[in-house]
Amino acid sequence: MTRILFATSEVHPLIKTGGLADVSASLPAALQELGQDVRLLVPGYSQVLDGLSDKKTVATFAVFPGQPEVRLLSASMPNTKVPVYVLDAPQYFCRVAGPYQYHLGGDWPDNPMRFGMLSRVAAMLGSAGSPVDWQAELVHCNDWQTGLAPAYLHLEKSAHARSVMTVHNLAFQGNFERDWLKLLNLPQHVFDMHGVEFHGNLSFLKSGLHYANRIVTVSPTYAHEIQSTEMGYGMQGLLTARKAHVSGILNGIDENEWNPATDKHLEVRYDDSDLSLKTRGKLALQQRLGLEVNEHAPLLGVVSRLTHQKGLDLLLECLPALMEGGAQLVVLGSGEAELERRYQHLAQRYAGRVSVTIGFNEALSHQIMAGADIFLMPSRFEPCGLNQMYGMRYGTPPVVRRTGGLADSVINANLPEGTGFVFDEPSAISLQRTIKWAIECYRDTKNFRRIQLNGMHHDVGWKHSAQLYIDLYKTILNEPAGHI
Ligand code: ADP
Repeated sequence: MTRILFATSEVHPLIKTGGLADVSASLPAALQELGQDVRLLVPGYSQVLDGLSDKKTVATFAVFPGQPEVRLLSASMPNTKVPVYVLDAPQYFCRVAGPYQYHLGGDWPDNPMRFGMLSRVAAMLGSAGSPVDWQAELVHCNDWQTGLAPAYLHLEKSAHARSVMTVHNLAFQGNFERDWLKLLNLPQHVFDMHGVEFHGNLSFLKSGLHYANRIVTVSPTYAHEIQSTEMGYGMQGLLTARKAHVSGILNGIDENEWNPATDKHLEVRYDDSDLSLKTRGKLALQQRLGLEVNEHAPLLGVVSRLTHQKGLDLLLECLPALMEGGAQLVVLGSGEAELERRYQHLAQRYAGRVSVTIGFNEALSHQIMAGADIFLMPSRFEPCGLNQMYGMRYGTPPVVRRTGGLADSVINANLPEGTGFVFDEPSAISLQRTIKWAIECYRDTKNFRRIQLNGMHHDVGWKHSAQLYIDLYKTILNEPAGHI
């Protein structure tokens, strides 16, 4: 049994902006099930404090010299009972609006301090001077928000934990002005190309990539892709140099949360034995969203951040042609203002055929996954992606581009074991052709049923991948100290 601290800036169902929250809930639960002593560390946003009923204060201390004291609370996660430490610093985390941004979409200006503190506390919990009567042997960091933890561990004089840095999305790096170094109590000598410096800035992600014992990305294909100039976001040199320490472990999904047979957000639940029940959910969804209620109109679904990464501008281009073919579209998402505006415009133009909901809505995301016939995910890049796996599990075959985790999780429908529809070129015409192919298959009920059932039976759970993480932890802990 290994003592693992899983440090993260979001976790479902307490606070979520994307896939990181889902993984932060489901991977620790899977590790716990496999006998590990895993505990979470999360910031004490208001939603986190409100969502945990059994909190108690376990330590009070200053994170950086001269700063006011913060509290560390301990509790257990609502569904899984995984133990969780909460960094309770209300002046930093109890704010109206999002965890990273305020209402107008700008980043909180003190994000370096907020997540510097989170990183520092993660390192403290992995050091001999841990503020609680538990010391992690392994600190598992996730994305830039916890990327300074491996640097703090490296600087620790006493016996300390090893670390893993999981990259959920290399595009988000947490790069800030050099002045923050001092405020975050980091010595000047780490501000170096072989340290936390990235083109004259302090980079939280670079810190993690440099100092962690291992770098993991959320799919094997993405681990390979980020070592290239096109997809390395400037980090490819470092990633290539550390190649032997970079690997990809495909995310799994929470099979309890995302199960059409038990999903609490669905009016009509179903399993692989009777997919006519899925059609009833489709009709209910069409009615609720003001679409023409028509069992035979292929209903395309999108649940996504509306950003360039997700390729949804390509869908806008080919939509008129798809509408002519009688398809319907339901979109749930938020993100770039221009994309939001264009999708809303489209919903007006094709009233009754296109429904667009701007915002974040957990229940509706489940209902779309269940009610749509085909799920669309034409991402330009996709570190792993979870929605395509939810789609497969819900008998809603995804249309995906062959990139990152989409390439690793979806089998193309031209193969007997196919689970979805895969295309290569990030262009509107390739996407359009592939959606048309998916719609043709949909009209060929027997063939489509095969693809639906293949997807529903495809293993998308955590068991295998969680074991790969455990094997990796063991390898790291058996190595002599100090890779740098
Ligand atoms: P990413 O993390 O890049 O946003 P993923 O596919 O890995 O993409 O995970 C996205 C997660 O966020 C999924 O659980 C998805 O259902 C959810 N999600 C995205 N946008 C919304 C939204 N507008 N409302 C509800 N859930 C959403």
